[in-house]
Amino acid sequence: MSDHKPSCPGCSSAIPVRSVTFELQLECPACRTQLRVPLVYQANFTTASFVLGLISAHVLDVGPHFVEATFLLAFVFALFLGTTIVPLVPPMLEVR
Ligand SMILES: [Zn+2]
Repeated sequence: MSDHKPSCPGCSSAIPVRSVTFELQLECPACRTQLRVPLVYQANFTTASFVLGLISAHVLDVGPHFVEATFLLAFVFALFLGTTIVPLVPPMLEVR
């Protein structure tokens, strides 16, 4: 884990983390290879956000609004993970 920058598997060009986070289907800016974030990574990301939302809703004891609070908190955690964790642990991009 010495290199934290996502890169193109085709030409090894660095891919901006922002693109990786917000566009799951992207294109290498250098060689135009069609890339995507692996499904396992997307699944882990979604699961992590949801579990964190669920735990927070429980800890905050939101009562009858548990479901709404869980989804809202999951969304907040998704934003948090997308802006802080993804740059630290970027996905290995795949060729589409
Ligand atoms: Zn490339």
